[in-house]
Amino acid sequence: MGKPKIVVLGAGYAGLKTTRELVKSLAPEEADLVLVNKHNYHYETTWLHEVAAGTLNPNQARFMISDVVNPNRVRLIYDAVVEVNKEDQRVILENGEITYDYLVIALGFESNTFGIKGMEENAYAIVDIDSSREIREHLEYQFAKYKTDENAKESDLSILVGGAGFTGIELLGELVERIPKLCKKYDVDRHKVRIINVEAMPSILPMFDKDLVSYAMQSLEDRGVEFKLGTAINECTEDGFIVGDDNELIEAGTVVWTGGVTGSSVLTESGFELTKGKVTVDGDLRAPGFDNIFILGDCAWVMDEEAGRPFPPTAQAAMQHADTCANNIKAVLRNDPLETFDFDDKGTVASLGVTDGIGNVFSGTALKGKAAAAMKKVVDNRSIYLLGGPKIVLKKGKFRPF
Ligand SMILES: Cc1cc2nc3c(=O)[nH]c(=O)nc-3n(C[C@H](O)[C@H](O)[C@H](O)COP(=O)(O)OP(=O)(O)OC[C@H]3O[C@@H](n4cnc5c(N)ncnc54)[C@H](O)[C@@H]3O)c2cc1C
Repeated sequence: MGKPKIVVLGAGYAGLKTTRELVKSLAPEEADLVLVNKHNYHYETTWLHEVAAGTLNPNQARFMISDVVNPNRVRLIYDAVVEVNKEDQRVILENGEITYDYLVIALGFESNTFGIKGMEENAYAIVDIDSSREIREHLEYQFAKYKTDENAKESDLSILVGGAGFTGIELLGELVERIPKLCKKYDVDRHKVRIINVEAMPSILPMFDKDLVSYAMQSLEDRGVEFKLGTAINECTEDGFIVGDDNELIEAGTVVWTGGVTGSSVLTESGFELTKGKVTVDGDLRAPGFDNIFILGDCAWVMDEEAGRPFPPTAQAAMQHADTCANNIKAVLRNDPLETFDFDDKGTVASLGVTDGIGNVFSGTALKGKAAAAMKKVVDNRSIYLLGGPKIVLKKGKFRPF
């Protein structure tokens, strides 16, 4: 029998780290490795809100896959995955197909509008470099247009952010830094620009405790964010959101939906059994009923057996899935026992712009303000270190002084 072929789909946190771990732990004679990704670069998904607001250059948030994975050792295919044919062990790509003996599905998330009327058509979403760059360009265009187009309205300058989870709040933190700069650049009075957050739940950032949440809200309000919490979005139109019981229209020139994500639609196309768009994997991260398919990152629900619910889908977890997955593929090839995934929670930090943030780290130490912002930079640099090594940290790391 020839060498087994291991195919990894997606070069995000989970897929790229799995590939790098497999390169380290398997001898070239043991297996052929293939990595498939839509682009020839990896991007830091957790930095995309900065790209969208225009506070970070898109190129800093990405690096070439061939700079961190040796193409002589791993076959790199830059193409979009359409579907996995599990019976024939084949992956259908937009421009071809490829067979596998072992498959790792790590295709990340897609925006989920929960069927809110008009949201998909009229709101932007932060999904990848291209979609984030588009928000950045659109936002700036509203300012340029306001100064030249006699039909432009003041509300064209307004920004509506739907959803007050991690992505929404981190985006607001960047916007309050970016907007004053755009106002200065385009000679616009800052008071003309509204930044409005609409959230159906009564609170923001449900993963943090009350003190940190109040701190975050106050910090953002002090810098001009208007919160409309406990407010359902009934519809998104070209003009903005229609909200609440009285169907109030909140007008804005830039509308971003951050209120929900789901696993890659490739999972649906491939006929996996899904719970809220993701596959509930076994403890060893394999898809139930498929000994040769591992599903990681935002495509997977990994159960926290003690808590009786899934671990939260994060970049931190995705990279830890990668380690378990690489170990388990090695174990399968060598007929060793497989390990069960165990999440080592190193904490969570949310940025509120460059110099502010909130966080819980080291099993319960609460951080806020500059300490949290500094910790966020450590987390961000650690992530690219784990995925790319010291060279990438030097090239793309965040060393901006406060
Ligand atoms: C703005 C923002 C901020 C966040 N902040 C944090 C944070 O502070 N901490 C934290 O832990 N988590 C954070 N998250 C969540 C975190 O980013 C995700 O949990 C994480 O990206 C999941 O990793 P992944 O490997 O599953 O997917 P990703 O890292 O998103 O990678 C998926 C990869 O698959 C590729 N791909 C997708 N579809 C296809 C296809 N059809 N064909 C080929 N390739 C494809 C993509 O291009 C990408 O390279 C944040 C998310 C966002 C959007």
